[in-house]
Amino acid sequence: MRTQIWNNGGGTQSAAIAALIVTGKLPKPDLAVIADTGRERSSTWDYLDAYIAPALASVGVTIHRVRKELYATVDLMGGKNGDTLLIPAFTTAGQDVGKLPGYCSGEWKREVIRRWATKEHGVKAVTNWIGYSIDEVGRAVKAKNAKKSQGKWQTLFPLIDLGMNRGDCVALVQKMGWPLPPRSSCWMCPNMRVGEWREVMEDDRDRPKVIQFDRDMRKLDRHAWLTDQAVPIDKADFDDANEVMFGRERGACHSGLCFV
Ligand code: SF4
Repeated sequence: MRTQIWNNGGGTQSAAIAALIVTGKLPKPDLAVIADTGRERSSTWDYLDAYIAPALASVGVTIHRVRKELYATVDLMGGKNGDTLLIPAFTTAGQDVGKLPGYCSGEWKREVIRRWATKEHGVKAVTNWIGYSIDEVGRAVKAKNAKKSQGKWQTLFPLIDLGMNRGDCVALVQKMGWPLPPRSSCWMCPNMRVGEWREVMEDDRDRPKVIQFDRDMRKLDRHAWLTDQAVPIDKADFDDANEVMFGRERGACHSGLCFV
């Protein structure tokens, strides 16, 4: 028997999966888990604590919050020589502003959950539930076929199997009487859209952390920036007119755990 592990990504699709479990339309997973990168937006935890965790507890499901620093082997820098920035930052190392690939989602979430499940629960064969909806079927196919998703660790997409799109997820969450969750991501994620940046920078709990992070990041890589404006984050212009300048599509969160 494979251990069924639901990887909660903290966003709307994950709230929909919670609703399906609470209402008995999905079976209860053996383990429900959310990776805590230590940099998750404060609003994500507010929502989880207020709505999702209590609703799951009412049907006997505990959501485990697994701290990255206990199980990750790297933080911001990795690669063979430890000189590769792992977040999908923008870079001015070339002639134009470019985008680095992101390894953080895999290192801080996927691998953290896998090590936790193996060490703490002795899992031997796992089916990971991930909250892609049918509008993200391309990402799901990619995730399913990835080498890292074969053998011991396989993936399941309950929302796709139920034919649900993001709109269906929104409707289901509202039907539960829950507000829609805030976008889930790290507070310094370069894949955020301009409106998400505004929310983060208006949150007094997260804004100082972002500004400090941005400064510290450039001590490690002087060409790295959090937005493609390539300016210190407190100087960036988060006007809607700049939306085309941003875009997470240029650096997808490849483990399937971010933004779902
Ligand atoms: S939200 Fe962004 S910064 Fe955080 S782990 Fe995912 S891709 Fe990386």
